[in-house]
Amino acid sequence: MGLKIAFIAHDRKKDEMVNFVTAYEHVFVPHTLYSTGTTGLRIMERTSLNIHRFMSGPLGGDQQIGALVAQNEMDLIIFLRDPLMAQPHEPDITALLRLCDVQGIPVATNVATAELLVKSLERGDFGWRELVHKYKPGEPS
Ligand code: PGA
Repeated sequence: MGLKIAFIAHDRKKDEMVNFVTAYEHVFVPHTLYSTGTTGLRIMERTSLNIHRFMSGPLGGDQQIGALVAQNEMDLIIFLRDPLMAQPHEPDITALLRLCDVQGIPVATNVATAELLVKSLERGDFGWRELVHKYKPGEPS
């Protein structure tokens, strides 16, 4: 099953993101990939992955990815946040993470969790996302 996966990295986390995605490029190839503007550009410069790039994060990219999350059309997000620097679009970041919790979307906010998720992805453990697609937020599970 091809999943929809999004990459977002704050500026001081972009090198870490590029190294991470490069290391697991073979795992990401069969999936549909999205990113915020600069993150996707940096990844595509170093890999042969094809990534649909939204706007840059501060200009609304997080919200664009959030719109897909709200429709339960995103399966996995790797969002390497900078925990040591305030971001101008903090409300958008909070909103995106909130929507991930509404929909039950796996989201890694540091590379340690990202490693675990990508290994799970590699093993094909994400079949349960097909079941989650049937779940309607707000309804008893
Ligand atoms: P960028 O956006 O990939 O365009 O830098 C990410 C962010 O800073 O939120």
